Amino acid sequence: MKKAFKTVLLILLVCILFQVPLHAELKGKVDLKKPLLKVVFLDVWQGDSILLIFPNKKSMLIDGGSGGNKYSRFDAGRMVINPYLKKNHISSIHDLVMTHPHSDHIGGLVEVLKAKKIDNVFDCGMSYTTELYLDCLTLIDKKKINYNIPSRGDKIKVDPLVDIKVLHPGKDWSYSDNPNNNSIVIKVKYKKVSFLFTGDIEEEVEYNILDSGEDLSATVLKVPHHGSDTSSSDAFLSAVDPETAVIMVGKNNKFGHPTPSILASYEDRNIKLFRTDYDGDVTFITDGSHYEVKSLKRREK
Ligand SMILES: [Zn+2]
Repeated sequence: MKKAFKTVLLILLVCILFQVPLHAELKGKVDLKKPLLKVVFLDVWQGDSILLIFPNKKSMLIDGGSGGNKYSRFDAGRMVINPYLKKNHISSIHDLVMTHPHSDHIGGLVEVLKAKKIDNVFDCGMSYTTELYLDCLTLIDKKKINYNIPSRGDKIKVDPLVDIKVLHPGKDWSYSDNPNNNSIVIKVKYKKVSFLFTGDIEEEVEYNILDSGEDLSATVLKVPHHGSDTSSSDAFLSAVDPETAVIMVGKNNKFGHPTPSILASYEDRNIKLFRTDYDGDVTFITDGSHYEVKSLKRREK
């Protein structure tokens, strides 16, 4: 065996054994000695689940992927979120955001609510009567978790270094029959680096937020509604103007997400795209000036 080949093999083996990210990208050098914000877009197949760990080590979970059904083989709470929290020694969640009550966003939360100490829940507050949603509400009530229905302009206070603002629903929003459009939208800003979390909002809400005059600009965008063509309008993308975006999507999902024309909109704007079906967990680390993106794997299309 040639020496160079042996060396490559050894490096690969070390990467696999110690789970060193095989795909890493630097947008400037993050100063690891500074207080850091970590944002993890968890690979929960078709659904959303995003974990934020703030400089003061408090955490926020936005959505919990699918699950909660004893007949389904996949439960994001039991199989992805709780193991990730355990591995990273996170025993409690300061804030849990349920963007909207669709099963691909709250399904995995039943197991998270059962297993973890949670201080506050933020729910969009629409009237919804699925067994899954009622199970979540029952657990929130039983565990005496502080329950909030936030609205545009509210600030969520977790860490004094990080500004968190609610951009949707507005105070005058009359709940839509389409749960996607009741999604809680929040912007998280740590000095010069910001993240926009959009749930499954569609064009109607993109325009509603634009009309409100709120500042939508963000360094990193969670692509609305899994990259569906219901969302990511030109006006919205121009206002957000992200450098990097993440699509949370399951491989071969039955919805056909993401839509090719939407992928093209991002590519045409030279926005660096990550997607959980190809990249697995996508992790951002930022010191507030620069950020770094890591993903464990890069699957072929
Ligand atoms: Zn969804």
